[in-house]
Amino acid sequence: TDPAASEPTIFQKILDGDVPADIVYEDEQCIAFHDVNPQAPTHILVIPRKPIPTVDDISPDDEALVGHLFRVASKVAEREGLDNGYRTVINCGDDGQQTVYHLHVHVLGGRSLQWPPG
Ligand code: 5GP
Repeated sequence: TDPAASEPTIFQKILDGDVPADIVYEDEQCIAFHDVNPQAPTHILVIPRKPIPTVDDISPDDEALVGHLFRVASKVAEREGLDNGYRTVINCGDDGQQTVYHLHVHVLGGRSLQWPPG
């Protein structure tokens, strides 16, 4: 997949400032914002600035970046007061129900979550 060759994703538009988002964290490598259709009392997405489409597109050069996304997920969860725990999710591809092809870590919390997911 060549992200530059196709229509920018909605998350690219958020990164570019072309679509508004409720951003709760940002640094040189990533941003985090509230999901527009929350599946839990707290539902935040952490995305890299780099347009990596899916988990399958993570290269060796991206390993530190992906680790950083999880450290930011933890920081965001702490800031949101998710002291009793939370869930991180990355959906990949059609069967994984991925809908936006720009890598993102879901951070879900604020209630007791069910396991396994459907
Ligand atoms: P996926 O199914 O790809 O793992 O998750 C994509 C997520 O992006 C969904 O939870 C969806 O609600 C969220 N989303 C889609 N469009 C927008 C948008 O324009 N703004 C925000 N904040 N979230 C979005």
